[in-house]
Amino acid sequence: MNVNTEHPAAPRRVIAVEDAPFWQALDDGEFRLARCPCGAWYARTQACLRCGASASQLQWLPASGHGAIKTFVIFDKPYHPWFATRLPYVVAVVALEEGPELLTNVIEVPVDAVAIGMKVEIVIVERDGQSIHQARAVAGIGQ
Ligand SMILES: [Zn+2]
Repeated sequence: MNVNTEHPAAPRRVIAVEDAPFWQALDDGEFRLARCPCGAWYARTQACLRCGASASQLQWLPASGHGAIKTFVIFDKPYHPWFATRLPYVVAVVALEEGPELLTNVIEVPVDAVAIGMKVEIVIVERDGQSIHQARAVAGIGQ
């Protein structure tokens, strides 16, 4: 593997089998979550924590992508060389309106404007040939 220290590659996605449909949907340009027949939603294939249904009973359906920042940190050091020229950036736990929480970046807003409770929406962006989810602030709602 070539390591180009001038222009390092972006970090690669690491996909557990439980997450595969989630990432496949992103590759198809859709934000999907797994829904149990009882109404509970998950971001991975798992047995339902509410009704005990098995993972095979979950169905991957389009989700709103709307949520709010539950907590966040501002990264001011690059923990991967790709981020060295992209500091500072925000990593947040986003509580989606369907229920699941998602760890993601918050983009298109100054890092010092990010706040707990800020309304965000999930967007799908391309990074070095991979589709990833990020969150952007929803202007004018709850702020
Ligand atoms: Zn359930």
